[in-house]
Amino acid sequence: MKKLIPFSIFLLLILACNSTKMAIPTANLAADIIVKNVHIIDAKNGLQKDMTVLIKGNRIGKIEQTNEINAKSSTATIIDGSGKYLLPGLWDAHVHLAFIKELTPAMFKLFLAHGITSVRDTGGQLHLVLPEREKARNDPQNTPRVMVAGPLLDGVPTVYDGSTPNNPHLGIGAGTVEEAAKNADEMLAAKVDLLKAYEMLTPEAFKTILAKGKAAGIPITGHVPLSMDAIEASNAGMSSMEHMRNLEFACAADWEELLAKRKKMLFDGQAEIGSTLRRNIHTAQRSHAVDNQDAARRTKVLKVLAENETWQVPTMSIMMAGAERFNVRPDWLESFNLLPEPVRTNWKTNAVKFAETPVTEATTAYANWFFEMVGHLKTANVDIMAGTDCPIFFLTPGYSLHEELALLVKGGLTPLEAIEAATTKPAEYFKMDKELGLVQEGMLADLLLLDANPLEDIRNTLKINAVVRDGKLHNRAALDALKEDLREGK
Ligand SMILES: [Zn+2]
Repeated sequence: MKKLIPFSIFLLLILACNSTKMAIPTANLAADIIVKNVHIIDAKNGLQKDMTVLIKGNRIGKIEQTNEINAKSSTATIIDGSGKYLLPGLWDAHVHLAFIKELTPAMFKLFLAHGITSVRDTGGQLHLVLPEREKARNDPQNTPRVMVAGPLLDGVPTVYDGSTPNNPHLGIGAGTVEEAAKNADEMLAAKVDLLKAYEMLTPEAFKTILAKGKAAGIPITGHVPLSMDAIEASNAGMSSMEHMRNLEFACAADWEELLAKRKKMLFDGQAEIGSTLRRNIHTAQRSHAVDNQDAARRTKVLKVLAENETWQVPTMSIMMAGAERFNVRPDWLESFNLLPEPVRTNWKTNAVKFAETPVTEATTAYANWFFEMVGHLKTANVDIMAGTDCPIFFLTPGYSLHEELALLVKGGLTPLEAIEAATTKPAEYFKMDKELGLVQEGMLADLLLLDANPLEDIRNTLKINAVVRDGKLHNRAALDALKEDLREGK
């Protein structure tokens, strides 16, 4: 006999089906923070207007059109997002946490105060950077996420060998393939998040390091070794290149001749100090290469980078500092007041002193090459990440990333592409894109709330209303207090 469903259960079923179409009831709004009526911006969906975003614990919960959601909640902190813009937290994908000893303790606060919720450390001794990563992991709500490379894996002679104050001991040199393998193994044993291969490596030692990183499943970044062509380095499996270093050589009409000359200089200069030898090579070739770029060759090089997914981190901030002199702008000098002493006084004096030196023609030409290359990278679909190289060369940690975004836009990226380079792309680079880099349900709650639209003017990324890190809200008052602490040297 056919069993009849009792009427009451039938009714419940109907109600259950209908409830998905109704406004979400207040009782179901599990949230610690609700950002009401805000415009969302991320690289996947662009601009989504008038949305309400729920944050529960350290994750983004429900996101709905504001009129679809009843945002009354008895316990959640409710933020009125009207006229504001909610973005994923920013990355600075090229920093050195341990470059200036006196600055290291202030770095995390500087990043957070400027909306930087993740950083990629691209070079520092293990005993200095690993404790910083540990600190960050133990206090994720008040520090940025930290990914570290450890020291630069270099050849012999070694550029950053600690021989001069300008060449601190950031690198370890390998004269043989065996030593290169040993150095890479040491990094992998320390569970670094990426490897950084450097300029004085032989092709064989370079390829050994790449194989080690690949086997461990982590990205390998670096500078194209002076002994190699960029195409050869990319084909070997480099995940990314920093500062577009030595790409100018690869894109020159006489790139083969330049490579042969570099190899001879490296061979003849084995007894030199590493930094001196590198400088001599750059001096001998850079301006010539910049003046003799070949469009067909450049197209070929960039096509290989795109096909191999060898990303670029142009670090415009440091590369442009010589030509643009932004570090003596009033706002930039003001940012020095957030730095601890003696760095604050030192930078104020030395940034001004540096700005008094004339800008050479070669510097201007190299700067122009950089801006043009950003446009070419975009056309060739080469992926870009935003990174600064702070705190080298008067680049205030945190503040400088916003300059980087502006410089990328000046180079030809749209504001949304610049935001992508500082959010979605770094997350993808570290295979974290399933949970980081977008304002999307279920993703980690690292967020930036702005008072003005960065798609209209990228400099609006500095108009920070609040930062959410690992689900913790740092509102404007909290960020101001953080800055006040920094000013007072706390
Ligand atoms: Zn660097």
